[in-house]
Amino acid sequence: MNMTDCQMCRRWEDEKDLQVIELPYSYVTLNRDQFFPGYTLLFTKDHVTELFHLDRNVRSALMEEVSTVAEALYTIYSPAKINYELLGNMVPHIHWHIVPRFVSEPLWPRPIWAETHEERFLSPEEYFQHTETLRRALS
Ligand SMILES: [Zn+2]
Repeated sequence: MNMTDCQMCRRWEDEKDLQVIELPYSYVTLNRDQFFPGYTLLFTKDHVTELFHLDRNVRSALMEEVSTVAEALYTIYSPAKINYELLGNMVPHIHWHIVPRFVSEPLWPRPIWAETHEERFLSPEEYFQHTETLRRALS
């Protein structure tokens, strides 16, 4: 698979309005569907499919980046729990779904994909507000 075939390789450039921050080993973007408020994606800069393909130092640094983003989301959204999903069956390029979860949700406490939901899209101003708040927390 080359870069042009992989939507995650193109995502940073393709969805500029969702960009949050570039970290040493990953890009962080807001998820377009905000049914789960604060739903964030973190994906490796390089096209890599498995954690064990990474050099140990890179993997450790990447996990720090995941943890830092999760902590920022926890501080901003005050959820009951942060969910981390790293599957890659549909898009085999390492990417975490980092999702604040709330007891008040209809899907709580099941996984976010337990049943379908209506996607929630925000206004450009709202996307900016969410990305800017997270960017400031991570800068
Ligand atoms: Zn890729």
